[in-house]
Amino acid sequence: MEPEAARTDIESTKAAAPAGVTSSVAVRAVLAASPELSSEPQPAVLPESSESPEPQSPELSKSSESLKSPKSSAIREIEARGRFVLPGLIDIHCDAIEKEIQPRPNTLLPLEMALLEFERKLPVHGITTMYHSVSLGVGISLRGDHLLTGIIELIHRYRSRRAMVRHGVHLRYEVSHLDGLPIVERYIADRKIDYLSYMDHSPGQGQYREPGSFERYVMKNQGVDVVEVRGIVDDLLTRQKRVDWTQLRSLARLAAQQGIAVASHDDDTPQRVDQFASYGVSVSEFPINLETAHHARRSGMRVCVGAPNVVRGASHDRNLRAVDAIADGAASIICSDYYPGALLPAAFKLADEQVVPLPAAVRMVTLHPAEALGVGAVRGSIEPGKQADLIIVDCFDGYPGATHTIVDGVVVYESGMYWSAP
Ligand SMILES: [Zn+2]
Repeated sequence: MEPEAARTDIESTKAAAPAGVTSSVAVRAVLAASPELSSEPQPAVLPESSESPEPQSPELSKSSESLKSPKSSAIREIEARGRFVLPGLIDIHCDAIEKEIQPRPNTLLPLEMALLEFERKLPVHGITTMYHSVSLGVGISLRGDHLLTGIIELIHRYRSRRAMVRHGVHLRYEVSHLDGLPIVERYIADRKIDYLSYMDHSPGQGQYREPGSFERYVMKNQGVDVVEVRGIVDDLLTRQKRVDWTQLRSLARLAAQQGIAVASHDDDTPQRVDQFASYGVSVSEFPINLETAHHARRSGMRVCVGAPNVVRGASHDRNLRAVDAIADGAASIICSDYYPGALLPAAFKLADEQVVPLPAAVRMVTLHPAEALGVGAVRGSIEPGKQADLIIVDCFDGYPGATHTIVDGVVVYESGMYWSAP
């Protein structure tokens, strides 16, 4: 994602704390790599660059050079007593950027504003790596080719120069968008995307198996009427029949050569999973039922479910309950899908309801997504030698929230609370 990502050795940073800093800060540390909650008090010590007088706004003051080599002579200690120190969250599927660009049907906001305003929200939710999910296809939501290429170019422009979080591109290819194939090919060949998924949102299968569900979704989401939606359906079904699956297999191989992970989407049968597994697809996003989810897992794929589904306790279109898939050991990754704020609460809810212990729940939003996208060696857990992407989490009435979000050793977000009068 970032060719020259800086690494911060947390252990050696701790060891380099200047004499006189002796306070041992008691924190509850959840190490995603450890099976149990750590009971040992651990200090949360972070490097603070001397070139950055205002750690609250590093995106304005940091040069890329200072990002790469934080000065360990200046150490900042953060009081984290009674809180959780976790790896930064990694979101491999979130299409909220599309809603940011088009908050209402037929209302497009400037791409640059949409990206920069959206980026600000991510550290608040504890997300330190976001694979923006942008769709290439017609018939469903935003999804115009020029918008897609515009936002991808913008992400590249910003992530190489300044960023609050690590930005990646998840290109979602609607397979019936036949004209889009060369665009996908070019992005893979140029390695301009970090993750590719194949979607088939035509009615009658996958997410829209239920008669009328596709029509209802499109009418509501795009503000079109019954006649218009009929045209969209006819058009989609015609194009879906012309999909050349051997071409998609070659495309997946090309992605694999470039080190780009490929996912299938809304798999509804084990046969479907077999088809994609034979292409080398390694992630199954939102399988429709438990049988398919288990089949995907047994086939060596990682199964990804949505955080909104976890926190709501149900799928928005009455498909597989994410909690069931996790409890049954079928799913191992949680993404925010369309609501970034749900990722952290989803992990804590799983632990609160004793579906899985907290460290296991945290791995589903940190280490497992990192491994699925090939960055597990540098990110996704708190270990010496990995990038210092961390969050400190406090709970109020059991509800978690990030108080500090740290990317590459830089505090990109920090929040406080005031005591409101009754
Ligand atoms: Zn879908």
